[in-house]
Amino acid sequence: MRIVVTGAAGFLGSHLVDRLLAQGHEVVGVDSMITGSAQNLEHLAGNKAFLFTQADVTKYIGVDGPVDRVYHFASPASPKDFPRYPVHICKVGALGTLNALGLSKAKGSRMLLASTSEVYGDPEVHPQVEGYWGHVNPIGARSMYDEAKRFAEALTMSYHKQNHVDTRIVRIFNTYGPRMRIGDGRVLPNFICAALQGQPITVYGDGCQTRSFCYVDDLLDGIMRLMESACDEPVNIGNPDEVTVLELAREVIALTGSKSELKYESLPKDDPVRRRPDITKATQLLGWTPKIDRREGLKRTVDDFARRLKA
Ligand code: UDP
Repeated sequence: MRIVVTGAAGFLGSHLVDRLLAQGHEVVGVDSMITGSAQNLEHLAGNKAFLFTQADVTKYIGVDGPVDRVYHFASPASPKDFPRYPVHICKVGALGTLNALGLSKAKGSRMLLASTSEVYGDPEVHPQVEGYWGHVNPIGARSMYDEAKRFAEALTMSYHKQNHVDTRIVRIFNTYGPRMRIGDGRVLPNFICAALQGQPITVYGDGCQTRSFCYVDDLLDGIMRLMESACDEPVNIGNPDEVTVLELAREVIALTGSKSELKYESLPKDDPVRRRPDITKATQLLGWTPKIDRREGLKRTVDDFARRLKA
């Protein structure tokens, strides 16, 4: 197939491009390079099955020739990016998704929207099932991302209903792995960099808030299954293995053999207290469950960070 990936130079986008190429598809990657990294794609230089276009999806997504699938992954996604690019994040969720849907409609392609567990906000239902409508502060510190993705889902379903565009929606929970940005600001890049450099590890709040981390290969396996399934309703993909931030810090210290100490800072505003996906739907509809446990996934991620920090 001929497949468009927006956000191709990002953490998830670039791994997705690799997997699609490995399956023998032709891939057109699009990225504005605002948060993407050229390093994530440099190994593809000279690959005739891969074409890269630097473009901002909020303006227009121009692709010549036929397109069978569109994976719409473009968006800054780290909470550290939220105060930096609030208007742009709103535009990416709204205008970027509009353009991805417009491209899909024009080409007759199937589109998958990368949505997020953030649509559930600070959830009052635990674990989070797809039928839960969420608890989001519409003007809060994370609202530019949360509401943009909620709108992106509404727009996607509207194109599906009115224009009969074949769409899929994945709600992605916390994911980690090689190629996450150094300085990304999310918890694992921060903890791993601090541990490897012997710097203090900063835990926000008391560290009792929880997250559930999925290794990138597992996540993409689920997402690619969803794309090729018949399921046009949102599906959670994530690893339900829930951990507190404090436990996670201790795991990273143990794994790296670091002498880093813990230090505490105040919890960012609207930081969700707990998060864990209910993956019953993914398991039943896609036959998918995550396979890589956190110890193994963390080991691979630490090795990648160690290599990049040395370079
Ligand atoms: N966090 C932390 N120290 C850090 C970065 C994050 O304690 O250096 C906490 C953060 O407050 C949140 C959790 O780790 O409770 C996950 O944060 P992240 O930014 O990775 O993503 P989120 O799941 O909040 O979108």
